[in-house]
Amino acid sequence: MDVFIEPIGKLINEFSKLPGVGKKTAQRYAYRIIGMNDSEAKAFAESILECKRKVRYCKVCGNFTEDEVCAICKSRDNSTICVVKEPKDVIAMEKLHEFKGVYHVLHGVISPMDGIGPNDIRIKELLSRVSDGCVQEVIMATNPDVEGEATAMYVAKILKPLGVKVTRLAHGIPIGSELEYTDEVTLSRALSERKLI
Ligand SMILES: [Zn+2]
Repeated sequence: MDVFIEPIGKLINEFSKLPGVGKKTAQRYAYRIIGMNDSEAKAFAESILECKRKVRYCKVCGNFTEDEVCAICKSRDNSTICVVKEPKDVIAMEKLHEFKGVYHVLHGVISPMDGIGPNDIRIKELLSRVSDGCVQEVIMATNPDVEGEATAMYVAKILKPLGVKVTRLAHGIPIGSELEYTDEVTLSRALSERKLI
C-alpha cells in the first residue's frame, strides 16, 4: 500500500475488507470517495455509522431490525416458521410475496469441518419457540448444500418429538447453490412443493 499516500492507503485497506472486493476494486472505490463532494462523502460515512447504531437482531427471529422485535414477527402468522441461514435469505423469501409466516435466522449452519456445531447457531432459540406450542410447521430453508442439508436433518430430528411438522424446500434449487441466487420462480416452486422430512 505504500505507493499511496496514507489516508488513501487506509481507505483502500478498509474497502478491501469487504467480501468480493479485491485490491483493484478497493482502489476504484477509494478514488470514487475522494471524488465526492463533502456532503456526499459525509452521507456515505454517516450511513455506515447509522447502520451500526440502529440495526440489531430481532430477539424473536434473529433477523435485522431497528426495534426489539421485528415487523414480521409482530404482524404475521406465527404458526409457520421458515428457518434460514442468514438475514439475506429472509430477503430472498420475502421477494416472493408468498410466504405469510415468520422466520428464524440461524446465523450459520452446522459445519463440523469449520468447527461449527449445533450450539454455535440459533437452534436452542428455535427449539424454545417451537416448545411454546402454537407452531404447526417448520420449513427448513437452509441452502441445498452439504451443511444446509445436514442442518435441516438435525433440526428435523430434534423438533419431531415436539409433534411439529417439519418440511424442506423441494428440490429444483440446484444442489450447492444459495437461496439468495435462486431465481424467484424456482424458489417459489420449491416453497409450494416442500416435502415432509
Ligand atoms: Zn423477528
